Amino acid sequence: MRFETKVIHGGIDGDVTTGAVSVPIYQTSTYKFIGLEENKGYDYSRAGNPTRSAVEKLIAEMEGGSAGFAFASGMAAITAVLMLFKSGDKILISDNIYGGTYRVLDQIFNHFEIHYEMVDTNNLKEIEILLGPTVKAIIVETPTNPLLGITDIEKLTQFAKENNLLTIIDNTFMTPYLQRPLEMGADIVLHSGTKYLGGHSDLLAGLVVVKEQKLADQLYLIQKSTGGILSPNDSWLLIRGIKTLAVRMDRHQVNSAGLVEFLQAHPLVEHVYYPGLLSHSGHDIQKRQARGFGAIISFVINEKVDIKKFVKAFDIITFGESLGGVESLLTHPETMTHGAIPYELRKKMGISRNLFRLSVGIENVDDLILDIKNAFEAASGQHNYGV
Ligand SMILES: *Cc1c(COP(=O)(O)O)cnc(C)c1O
Repeated sequence: MRFETKVIHGGIDGDVTTGAVSVPIYQTSTYKFIGLEENKGYDYSRAGNPTRSAVEKLIAEMEGGSAGFAFASGMAAITAVLMLFKSGDKILISDNIYGGTYRVLDQIFNHFEIHYEMVDTNNLKEIEILLGPTVKAIIVETPTNPLLGITDIEKLTQFAKENNLLTIIDNTFMTPYLQRPLEMGADIVLHSGTKYLGGHSDLLAGLVVVKEQKLADQLYLIQKSTGGILSPNDSWLLIRGIKTLAVRMDRHQVNSAGLVEFLQAHPLVEHVYYPGLLSHSGHDIQKRQARGFGAIISFVINEKVDIKKFVKAFDIITFGESLGGVESLLTHPETMTHGAIPYELRKKMGISRNLFRLSVGIENVDDLILDIKNAFEAASGQHNYGV
């Protein structure tokens, strides 16, 4: 089954007992036992629920893994993965990581003496210096958030294997349609299903996929013991979102190409970050390891633009947090997604006041271009720019 078919017919396709085309929402907390120590495979919905099983099987197939786990949010999924570690362990993380992942390590897991260090995940020499018996894993986002740096997954996983590190990849920005890290040697893939997999800005979800049975057993124990599971309703919504993943990603990317071209030509845009650009330092790696460049564009605007006016000047594009929905969404990383990161560190990461991140939706691209053009005019008092 090819990917575009898998998103529609993979996992558990419909319902065998009634023929329903859509997997039913099993809105139940518990299950009737047939007899002593005898049931139909389910005993209590924290441990297992058929609607959740369907989405877990589906994401495992999509990522080329053997087991999937669904959680109530991306952060619940990341937290479950971090529970694989013990006090004294150290985890290396991308230096441009999602703000929530940084926060949970910096402010929650530090109480349990699970340590972290930020690294440039493309600089193996830098990583090598930090290695030691307590360093157990590396968490990578590629592309990074929000500056879209690219890490060579194959090179990194090979290095990690040689040094007994688990490679954990947050694949939220790419989705398995565009990039499948397990097939390139990664041990664990993570998702905020809230973003492209759900795709409609109407649910929160998190997913974890692994290949090895030992990791699957450990994660299942963590999932049923700590209980941060995805509800039957949200599991169903996520399945429904995934069905259109391939067509949505295609359109997201076509629109992104149009917007990148527009932004690059705009005199009030100082810099555009997008791995699809030939000038992007990770362009060749991205071309090799992924099927496309994604639909997140970050850009720095000129100081002449009043950013307070700018964020209020859009008619179509929503100013807010999140990404990956059908609607275009503009984010200000400094005050929103990366607000939890201290100022000095943020500055070092390159997240400045004039940096914006655009999650390109699937609207008509000319409407989006006009919306941005108008916002620049309203916020700079300067006319006749662009298009
Ligand atoms: C949104 C996001 C998360 C967190 O997911 P939630 O569903 O919001 O908890 C983690 N990683 C990345 C890359 C994200 O974009």
